[in-house]
This record gives sequence, structure tokens and C-alpha cells, in this order.
Amino acid sequence: MIQNRLQKIKNELNEDTTLVAVSKTKPVEEIESLYEIGHVDFGENKVQELVNKHTFLPKDINWHMIGHLQRNKVRQIIPFIHLIHSVDSLRLLNKINDEAKKINRKVNILIQIKISNDNSKYGFSFDEIEYLVKNGILDEYEFTNVKGLMGMATFTKDENVIDHEFKKLKEFYQKYRPHTNFSILSMGMSGDYRIALKNKSNMLRLGSVIFGVRN
Ligand SMILES: *Cc1c(COP(=O)(O)O)cnc(C)c1O
Repeated sequence: MIQNRLQKIKNELNEDTTLVAVSKTKPVEEIESLYEIGHVDFGENKVQELVNKHTFLPKDINWHMIGHLQRNKVRQIIPFIHLIHSVDSLRLLNKINDEAKKINRKVNILIQIKISNDNSKYGFSFDEIEYLVKNGILDEYEFTNVKGLMGMATFTKDENVIDHEFKKLKEFYQKYRPHTNFSILSMGMSGDYRIALKNKSNMLRLGSVIFGVRN
């Protein structure tokens, strides 16, 4: 049962690692059953579903937007979102900052870096973020707080490939951490979270290992 599965994984983690339970496609009752045992971090990848669930569920839940975010949908989540993991372009970052400014709320975000070979994965390149950090450009956004980096590894059974990709992101994160406000490294899904932990991830996004496979 899902409460036991969540608890078992949490027992493997040290206290500064956050587990985001990825509840996309799952009903509010299942989220409630985890909330009842004290779990408050949930991730969704579609704005409409996120807004609906936010409306129904307790207001002290920390909602994480983990999927590709379209600019015309940003406004709907700005008032309540806890962390946007999937900021994958400057146009999106500008839009988030503009909408946050309108309601005078500082929004927490992560920069998504493309670390995989899969051509479907969104994200900045390492070079782009290096340029933005070195020139202090991320600090110019007054209504966004860039809390760290997110990456998704290649969808493969080859653990060496995944390990190599997570390691590169970890090294980049550690290199730039002293020059930024970075404190979050979001890496690891159901299939690869142990490799992510080995590479110092401190935020896991886990769906199917908790809730069972999605249809
Ligand atoms: C769906 C999703 C996850 C969780 O996937 P599982 O394999 O079910 O753990 C994590 N991150 C992102 C960005 C996702 O879209």
C-alpha cells in the first residue's frame, strides 16, 4: 500500500533530502492518504490537474511543478506554487518573473538542464547556464529565486550512462554553488533514484515506486 511504500523510501533518505511524491494522473484520495501520514510535497506535470488538485486539497501542501510549462499557463500557478522544477528557457523565466511581480510574490524555481541524449527532453545547456551565472543574469530577476538545478537522465537500462549524466550535473552544481543561491539538486525518478542519491541529489521526484505504474 502506498503509505508503506512512501515510508520505506523515506527511511532510506537522510534528513536533508526531500522526496517529492509525483501524483500526476492519481486521484486526490491517494494524495490525502499520504498527507494523513505527514507527507506534504507533491509533484504534478500538467497545469490544469495541478490547479484542480490544489483547489480540493489542504492549503499547506507544497506543490511542485515538474513538467514542461507553457508560458500562457504560468499565471494560474504563480499564486500558490512551491517550486517550479522545469524552467527550461529564458522566455519562460521572464514570464514567471513578470507574473510573480504582478502579485508581488517571490517564486522559487529550478533551472532545468538537458543532461540526456533523449531528444524529447527540454532544458538549457551547461554552457548557457554558465554564461548566465558568470554574468549575474539570474540575480537580475527580482521576483524569482533560483534555488538550484534539475535534470532528467536518459531513459536507458545502462546505469553507467545515467551515472555519468548525474555526475556531470552534480559537478556543475557544486562548482557554481558558491556563486549562487543554489541549495537544491533535483535528480532521480523511480528507475534511477539510487544512482541520483549516489551523486548527491537532495530532491527526488518519485511516482510509480510509490503509487504503482500509471496507465
Ligand atoms: C513523471 C515524472 C517523474 C516521476 O516518474 P516515475 O518514473 O513514475 O517516478 C519525475 N519527474 C518528471 C519530470 C516526471 O514527468
